[in-house]
Amino acid sequence: MGRGVYATEAIARGTCLVVCQGWIAPSDKLDDDWHAMQVGPDEWLCSAGGNLDDYINHSCDPNAGFVTGEPALFALRDIAAGDQIAWDYSTSIAEAGWQLRCLCGSATCRGMIRPWLELSEFDRDRLRPIALAFLREG
Ligand SMILES: [Zn+2]
Repeated sequence: MGRGVYATEAIARGTCLVVCQGWIAPSDKLDDDWHAMQVGPDEWLCSAGGNLDDYINHSCDPNAGFVTGEPALFALRDIAAGDQIAWDYSTSIAEAGWQLRCLCGSATCRGMIRPWLELSEFDRDRLRPIALAFLREG
């Protein structure tokens, strides 16, 4: 909380919002100072911070998602000026045991953000169309 990314103008459903930026590193080479987003079984897209995608918060009712399966976020619905952009972190994380308490406040909030395989089958089915490609099989 605190920082986030907000729309400065209305954005139409289907618009590409951001292509996530960074370099690829394996799990055992990650540095605590980096921002890292999992993009494969042992592949993390890393940055030193400062990219737009480093500041996008999680929501259990996201308005952005990985529609193509690639690490690029697309608008899942029309987004109004002033709305916060958010994606569901569980659609990229596979690391077992990882969890983060969720304060998104949406009606469908899961309370705890968990890795993909620890979601219920219901949630995985619901989120599969906006998950990264490497998770869609599971
Ligand atoms: Zn939530």
